[in-house]
Amino acid sequence: MDYFDMHCDTIYELSSYALYCKAGGTLLKNDGQLDLTRTARYGHYAQMFALFCGASPIQTKEEAHIRFTHLLQTAHNAFAACSDRLMHCKTADDFHTAERQEKAAAFLSVEGAELLQSEADIQAAIDAGVRIVTLTWNHRSCYGCGASFDNDAGLTEKGVQFAQSLSQRGVFLDVSHLSERGFWDLTECIPGPIVATHSNSRAICPHVRNLTDAQFRAVIQRSGLVGINLYVPFLTQRRRANALDILRHIEHFCELGGENHLCIGADWDGCDRLPDGIDDVTGMERLAEILAQHGYSDIQIQNLMYDNAKRFVTANF
Ligand SMILES: [Zn+2]
Repeated sequence: MDYFDMHCDTIYELSSYALYCKAGGTLLKNDGQLDLTRTARYGHYAQMFALFCGASPIQTKEEAHIRFTHLLQTAHNAFAACSDRLMHCKTADDFHTAERQEKAAAFLSVEGAELLQSEADIQAAIDAGVRIVTLTWNHRSCYGCGASFDNDAGLTEKGVQFAQSLSQRGVFLDVSHLSERGFWDLTECIPGPIVATHSNSRAICPHVRNLTDAQFRAVIQRSGLVGINLYVPFLTQRRRANALDILRHIEHFCELGGENHLCIGADWDGCDRLPDGIDDVTGMERLAEILAQHGYSDIQIQNLMYDNAKRFVTANF
């Protein structure tokens, strides 16, 4: 099967900032949730690798620059070390080349725009092929506020300018983590697609990190993309989850007309709690099996696992 995943924190885990310290090794082989040895089972494999701002709030512009530079260097080093089986993709053309050469297609995104506080760093991100940026992580930042911190706090004036500037330069804003108020502020200040790379349905699991039906509809009306997240607290309010809980979110989003706008943004190496039977990146095979057992056609599964994300990249990158 083919697999295109819109969000993982593996670069962060390979950096000196690692939270869980399991990835340890290299992108080729490590003890975390994702490496290229395990993704080799997938026919075509593409991954959006996030440069994550970090769990402790960034205090100064200098700190932002230091963290961003270290993460970008970590990504460059990790990609270069695997260049025989992975291609760092910046455009749709690069992606198609990677597909033809049967290499993993690696894209970069930024999780937490507070990493980018100078024009030089914004340009460095764009030069490195970053085309997706989440406006916030969980904290309040110079640009806006995370849903987990204050769901009613909107974008700052600086956040509006930042979003408009990025949008004009072909970068897509990612609303995963963003407050609900910030989400609606964003829809008013930029045109075109917005994405939620790793967010589930709030109607199915009432967590502030999940999207309301109105938010989901707004994303798909703009031809955006939503990635299903495997973190247990975003799937269910119960202590444990299984693949059926994932299915409930997919089903609900499909009922809202989202079948061609759904993908996976599993959050590998960003989750310390995963559904039973899904321990790492190899678990997508299990999810595909469950979908087939519940009547999803091969085409529907291919759309969810790969083609919807591929179409978004092909149309926009
Ligand atoms: Zn995240």
